[in-house]
Amino acid sequence: MECSFEKELIDATVRFHGHMCPGLAIGIRAAEIGLREVGRDGDEEIVVVVETDMCGVDAVQYLTGCTFGKGNLIHLDYGKNAFSFYRRSDGKSLRVVARPSILGGGVKTLAELHRKMNSGGLSQEEKKRWHAIREEITAGVMHARLEALFEVKPVQADPPAKARILASLTCDGCGEAVMESRMREHQDRRLCAPCLNALLTPHQKPSQK
Ligand SMILES: [Zn+2]
Ligand SMILES: [Zn+2]
Repeated sequence: MECSFEKELIDATVRFHGHMCPGLAIGIRAAEIGLREVGRDGDEEIVVVVETDMCGVDAVQYLTGCTFGKGNLIHLDYGKNAFSFYRRSDGKSLRVVARPSILGGGVKTLAELHRKMNSGGLSQEEKKRWHAIREEITAGVMHARLEALFEVKPVQADPPAKARILASLTCDGCGEAVMESRMREHQDRRLCAPCLNALLTPHQKPSQK
């Protein structure tokens, strides 16, 4: 049971991301479950929470229509290929989590080649091998049964509240406009996050010449 998306849709997703790769394949297959279970943003109000910032997110964004700008694509920095899908109309939700085995046996060799690439570089032969293994892993993910790739679990929290429009205030440090909810109070001054950080850890400030 291979990926059920039309070839044109997969091609468009690859163009959006810039290349086909194992991570994108994971995102495409995860989105397949999300779309099947809760639908696409636009027809319905969908929220997606992604627990990774790697390649797969681009597929999930492109295919579900949820984006950072609309506030319905939310990143949690957990480093997991896990994607939660919420439908606001009836509260249906699910968390799609990649099984540890999702990339198959080839991933070990790929990791070894990666290490070598970063330390001393790869020979022509090894480069070919690296490409071949990546293609093999990608094809494996695209052709596997969804149940073999992912576990579907209940979500861990309610869907995040809708983004609110907040007033902008001016930072007392840099003079730039900052969203109200991001402004920090410090010793009677209202500061943006970078200005506050610079104040609290002055030695980490990049030197200005
Ligand atoms: Zn990629
Ligand atoms: Zn500032």
